[in-house]
Amino acid sequence: MDEIYDVTVIGGGTTGLYSAFYSGMRDLKTKVIEYQPQFGGKVSFFYPEKKIYDVGGLPGIRGEDLASNVTEQAASVDTTFVTGVKITSMAKRQDDIFILKTENGEEHFSKTVLIASGLGTFKMQPLSVKGSAQYDGRQIHYTIQHLEQYRGQKVGVISQNRVGIDWALALEAVAEEVHLLNRGDEFKAVYKYDLEKLEASTVNVYKNLTIEELRGADVMKEAVLSNGAVLDIDHLLIYEGLQIDKSMYEEWGLETDKGRIPVGTDMCTSISGVFVAGDAAVYPSKTMLIASGFNEAMTAVNSAAKYLDPKAKSQVYSTVIYKHQ
Ligand SMILES: Cc1cc2nc3c(=O)[nH]c(=O)nc-3n(C[C@H](O)[C@H](O)[C@H](O)COP(=O)(O)OP(=O)(O)OC[C@H]3O[C@@H](n4cnc5c(N)ncnc54)[C@H](O)[C@@H]3O)c2cc1C
Repeated sequence: MDEIYDVTVIGGGTTGLYSAFYSGMRDLKTKVIEYQPQFGGKVSFFYPEKKIYDVGGLPGIRGEDLASNVTEQAASVDTTFVTGVKITSMAKRQDDIFILKTENGEEHFSKTVLIASGLGTFKMQPLSVKGSAQYDGRQIHYTIQHLEQYRGQKVGVISQNRVGIDWALALEAVAEEVHLLNRGDEFKAVYKYDLEKLEASTVNVYKNLTIEELRGADVMKEAVLSNGAVLDIDHLLIYEGLQIDKSMYEEWGLETDKGRIPVGTDMCTSISGVFVAGDAAVYPSKTMLIASGFNEAMTAVNSAAKYLDPKAKSQVYSTVIYKHQ
């Protein structure tokens, strides 16, 4: 923990992971710190099962695969990975070393900081019904990561949102049975074609119903519904909204613009030695897309390299660096 890194990246979404790779590729000693237990940010959280078509050179890649590829890319350059840790404060010492403090009081030290923490951290609204606590994390899930784990299984999805429909339709391809439970009488944030696809699917849709109890010794086997019906269930996926804990960029002494960090074309922030990339950044015509995060990551790392050594090259070519491999 006392080690001083050249670059510490806050946030292990696609931008943070790619920043870590690029920083390592430039021979900078790099650490990436992520609050969630897994890497991948929004891609892993919201749409791991969906195909992404607008990242250059990848004509359709599942979110889960993109997150895992970019993690592998970061690992290939000896990145130090830290997960399950939230940075709550950032301060610069007199010797220009940044101290990043975590929620539980740990400290990380770095010569530069690259903020790739998007708009903050998110937590799903947890399910709390009789019996649910004992299955949490094993059979109750809040993202649909690793679709294969549901193969041949009976899966319940609890959601009033389009996300629930997306999950149910993705699960239909692998699961034995899919039950989509909506506690209201309609789905929110849906397009007509979402409902048409749902209608045409084999997903069993239940409206105005909730789960009252989950049963099964050790292993969850049944869900008791509010109308008294009992469903056989091996896994439950929940999407009932999320809590966003906004990043405290202003408290860290940074200039902000509606919760994001304004930058110029060099991705330098108002604090010398702090850089930003991805959804956390804002500038005229900024797009909040994966590919723009990758591009900004390169620029932010190149700026960090220059800050650390003014003689450093403005950019490097991977084909030159890796020509002997
Ligand atoms: C439903 C949906 C569909 C989308 N579809 C597409 C698409 O098709 N194509 C496309 O290009 N883009 C798409 N996007 C946008 C894309 O997902 C984002 O632009 C991209 O994920 C941003 O990546 P990021 O790494 O900058 O931020 P994020 O993915 O938000 O990652 C930030 C990470 O930082 C962590 N973090 C935050 N604060 C802290 C802290 N204090 N300490 C430690 N960790 C912290 C968070 O936990 C998170 O993992 C979509 C977005 C959504 C919501």
